[in-house]
Amino acid sequence: PGQETTRVRFGRAGATASVGGAGFTVIAGPCSVEHREQMLQAATAVREAGAHALRGGAYKPRTNPYSFQGLGPAGLELLAEARETTGLPVVSEIVDVRDVELMAAHVDVFQVGARNMQNYTLLRELGRAGHPVLLKRGLAATVEETLMAAEYLLDEGNEDVVLCERGIRTFESSYRFTLDLAALTVFKERTHLPVIVDPSHAAGLTDRVIPLALAAAAAGADGLIVESHPNPAEALCDAGQALPTSRLCELMGRLEFAVAAA
Ligand code: PEP
Ligand code: MN
Repeated sequence: PGQETTRVRFGRAGATASVGGAGFTVIAGPCSVEHREQMLQAATAVREAGAHALRGGAYKPRTNPYSFQGLGPAGLELLAEARETTGLPVVSEIVDVRDVELMAAHVDVFQVGARNMQNYTLLRELGRAGHPVLLKRGLAATVEETLMAAEYLLDEGNEDVVLCERGIRTFESSYRFTLDLAALTVFKERTHLPVIVDPSHAAGLTDRVIPLALAAAAAGADGLIVESHPNPAEALCDAGQALPTSRLCELMGRLEFAVAAA
């Protein structure tokens, strides 16, 4: 506490948002871009729910190499189309330095996933790529290691960095990851960067997402990134934790205390 939070602005003409400073920012959308109708339906639902930006993975770092790996460049096209139709800026994960240029042309924020938090080559490249970066805490990274990873981006001259607590690996196995809201408070003490929380990957189950999201907002997060899907039962990735549109709307309503306080 005591530090002014830096405001990170993102997007392009007709589709802009910001995180940090004033406001509580909600980024929502499917784990992965699956096909045109799914993405456009998801994007429309995100806008109608009142969220501020859209997420969707075109490159998916899956545990199992035979699981759906994302649509790649075709997914990026669909994300750009979704931005066009909704006016929502787009956040998407990058997993390979070779994709920087193509992704920069299609998406507004580079997401660095938990599995790549310490990919320093990728971080240095993104430090020079000219887009904001959403840096997710590694599955087993300390707060200090996370801040040092952010430092790689800052050191290359990119000051538009958003940190994300998404749960860490602990001995507890009755849910997917342990959401570390204490770390959120330490991030807020130690840095001026905005800090958002991903309740979805920690929860691993739809019914647990809203409680964790509300706790994060109450604990002082600058926003959320949350998975939603027009038809969770058919999702190709992280189906069990996606909020259907009705629950996304419910969440936005219950977050009014945070949005209103901003
Ligand atoms: C995701 O956002 O879909 C994702 C893979 O997240 P994480 O890197 O936090 O596991
Ligand atoms: Mn996911």
